[in-house]
Amino acid sequence: MSIPTVLVLPFPFQGHVNPMTTLSQKLVEHGCKVVFVNTDFNHKRVLSSMVEQQDHSLDESLMKLVSISDGLGPDDDRSNIGKLCDAMISTMPSTLEKLIEDIHLKGDNRISFIVADLNMGWALNVGCKLGIKGALFWPASAAVFGMLYNVPRLIDDGIINSDGSILTSNKTIRLSPNMPEMETTNFFWLNMADTINSTHFLNYLVHHCTPALNLTEWWLCNTAYELEPLMLTLAPKLLPIGPLLRSYDNTNPTLRSLGQFWEEDLSCMSWLDQQPHRSVTYVAFGSHTYFDQNQFNELALGLDLTNKPFLWVVRQDNKMAYPNEFQGHKGKIVGWAPQQMVLSHPAIACFISHCGWNSSTECLSNGVPFLCWPYFGDQPYNRKYICDELNVGLGLNSDENGLVSRGEIKKILDQLLSDGSIRSRSLKLKEKVTSSTTDCGQSLENFNKFVKWLKE
Ligand code: UDP
Repeated sequence: MSIPTVLVLPFPFQGHVNPMTTLSQKLVEHGCKVVFVNTDFNHKRVLSSMVEQQDHSLDESLMKLVSISDGLGPDDDRSNIGKLCDAMISTMPSTLEKLIEDIHLKGDNRISFIVADLNMGWALNVGCKLGIKGALFWPASAAVFGMLYNVPRLIDDGIINSDGSILTSNKTIRLSPNMPEMETTNFFWLNMADTINSTHFLNYLVHHCTPALNLTEWWLCNTAYELEPLMLTLAPKLLPIGPLLRSYDNTNPTLRSLGQFWEEDLSCMSWLDQQPHRSVTYVAFGSHTYFDQNQFNELALGLDLTNKPFLWVVRQDNKMAYPNEFQGHKGKIVGWAPQQMVLSHPAIACFISHCGWNSSTECLSNGVPFLCWPYFGDQPYNRKYICDELNVGLGLNSDENGLVSRGEIKKILDQLLSDGSIRSRSLKLKEKVTSSTTDCGQSLENFNKFVKWLKE
């Protein structure tokens, strides 16, 4: 068997880089070499937040971090997803091709395979041109994959327009007769920042990314049969290999934090050690959620009102002024947490979450109940799945001004913590979900099958 060198290409968002970093680490553990390609912009952030220590540096002969431009200027707004996608598709295919040719010219290990994020599906066309095979990786849920995959059918059936806007007057649809109903307002492309962004993003995906599904038999997904059995039956080609969780080898901090865009504040771990068992509310909204001052105030005062310990992630890029009345003496605030470690800490009682798919699978894998507070993209659908299908969380509702009030936070949190059935369902689901990636679990078997194929 030869040692394959796999080029891994994530979409340039934290929620895509993280699971693909974990996937890369697993490929290395199983005897592959990886060339991990970030955009220049993210590459700099990843390097500067790495807790690299001399005796624990990254073994570059096994995993090399490289970068190419995303086509935007240094000061352009990368949260404008439409603009980002336009820039990427007009520049990245040729720069990726050049990168691979340069690697080959230098006489480094030849790239033998490409694993591209489905949101970067066009990379498989580059691979085809150079005679390199590829696989596609979907970092979100199988259900959301189902929405995207069925876009042409939804257009043909008159459910949506070709720009993704809703045409049908029905509020819900079923992707297949035995699937739960989906609210049409939960189609992920409708929940972007604005309609221009939604249309651009959907066009980019449908025209430049999903056609690549025809170029490979390997459609990998960061989910598990135990989490989404119905959806995976509907999409039998989608191979669940998740949840992809980092292996917490505390002796190697470089690997533990690899791929993070912000440096993890580890001081929260010793703070958690001092808190009683199942007492702490963990509050984090991923990498893209932005609060305005009013909502920030309600959240801060709501956390005070709960009168319980909390660990709150307030990213530097969305730091607001704390309201004057805010005491916060029961809490700990950090700029970025080692989230997977936090969620597995015995002091954690529940997670106030935006329901990004990574945060969701990390929470489900630790048996922690959710307080769902979704913002955009696939998050509203994930909230519904968590609360109504898996029954392991409760949702927070906004008031007539569109705000989640401090009173609502306290009320629903108290309700969640006093509901023993949610906790016990969460723990049962944890057992099922984690069994998938251990022993003879389905996700592990799928991953092993993929690696075996790579090596042949
Ligand atoms: N995350 C983290 N520390 C934090 C907040 C988030 O490590 O303080 C990680 C989290 O573990 C997850 C990722 O960032 O892997 C966020 O991905 P997700 O899909 O949940 O949300 P997104 O950022 O894409 O909205």
